[in-house]
Amino acid sequence: MTEGTVRVRFAPSPTGYLHLGSARTALFNWLYARHTNGKLLLRIEDTDKTRSKGEFLDEILDDLKWLGIDWDEKPIFQSERTSTYKKYASQLLDKRLAYKEGEAIIFKVPKSRNIKVRDIVHGEIDFNTDEIKDQVLIKSDGFPAYNFACVVDDYEMGITHVIRGADHISNTPKQLLFYEALELNPPKFAHMPLMMGKDGAKLSKRHGAVAVVEYKKEGFLPEALSNYLLLLGWSPGKDREIISLEEVIKLFKIEDISNVQARFDIDKLRWINGECIKNKDTKVLANLLKDKVAKDINQNYLEKVVDLYKTRFHTLSELTTLTKAFFIEDFPIDVEAQKKLEKYLKDSKTKKAFAEFKTDLEKLKNFNKENIEKICRDIAKKYNIKPAAIIHPTRVAISGKIVGAGLFEMMELLGKKKVLERLEKYL
Ligand code: GLU
Repeated sequence: MTEGTVRVRFAPSPTGYLHLGSARTALFNWLYARHTNGKLLLRIEDTDKTRSKGEFLDEILDDLKWLGIDWDEKPIFQSERTSTYKKYASQLLDKRLAYKEGEAIIFKVPKSRNIKVRDIVHGEIDFNTDEIKDQVLIKSDGFPAYNFACVVDDYEMGITHVIRGADHISNTPKQLLFYEALELNPPKFAHMPLMMGKDGAKLSKRHGAVAVVEYKKEGFLPEALSNYLLLLGWSPGKDREIISLEEVIKLFKIEDISNVQARFDIDKLRWINGECIKNKDTKVLANLLKDKVAKDINQNYLEKVVDLYKTRFHTLSELTTLTKAFFIEDFPIDVEAQKKLEKYLKDSKTKKAFAEFKTDLEKLKNFNKENIEKICRDIAKKYNIKPAAIIHPTRVAISGKIVGAGLFEMMELLGKKKVLERLEKYL
């Protein structure tokens, strides 16, 4: 290792899915490593045998990759390192800085000492050891306690900067005591303010999904989620909100991590996702949607639907709901839409105009949006009704929805045959 090379780590416990807060921690570690040309290491904190599960770990690693976070070197598993922790603990036993209690090894916390934590984000924080009770190093089952394993590993992995959640600030003085007792240099610390819900309470299921995998399933784009997580702790300045990770890698400085608690706002994330979708290549979007909309869809047709709707939805699953009528015949008709259509067609003049609209469309050779629109407007004029009186019921009949893309474009894309069949049902 060359002097000065930054080495950071992300240390998930595979006892659950990757939480948004942890994903943000991973992202900031990754950004710092990439900005400094350093290394990001992965440490799997799997010493809780009953709660750690392989499926959680697989999902965590998948989610990290999905977000664009890659790591260097082979991940380290704490469960494989118990003898190492014991070796360090026995050093402390030998120095009489720790004692045994049955099989467990306990660290004797010195009395009445002031421990100063120097934190890059929060500045200096003072702790008094009188508030810290003796610390378990090795539990009676032979596994290490979190704080001790963390110190041994951060040292052995050559970690230079620990970037993690502020929920670990109170662990830091304990860890500093271990560094001192083992005569090791501690890394630098940067604790990221916790992520709160919109109402200021700790982010929990109550605020919506908290696991990255749920956002993935819901059709959020990884670049949108990472973009938003980034804004919850850092800002590119000048009120910029949409920024690519490549650009952030250039700009990111650890000192710029915000020290105010971030509030997770799903609407903001949805807006960012919508922006990212708009900016995304239609072909790429179509590929993401391929298996979601229906079987054996013509690629060209799918791309046209995506183009038509690209600016009108916030998530991919919203798009699949919105565009069902383009892919299947038994698409659902919204209750409100049905009511609206019935209301229009109750009026005999409107119903007549609607019927004539269909007849004229039948005769139309070139079924394009301009021609369809002309027919619609001519008929409205002839019957002295607003074009909307034809447009609204037609939209419901062909799509089951009150809102959507421009009606004439929708009709052209659906094609003459389908449009006529669907209108026929209401006559
Ligand atoms: N496994 C711990 C956590 O997920 C890691 C804490 C640390 O980074 O030191 O909170």
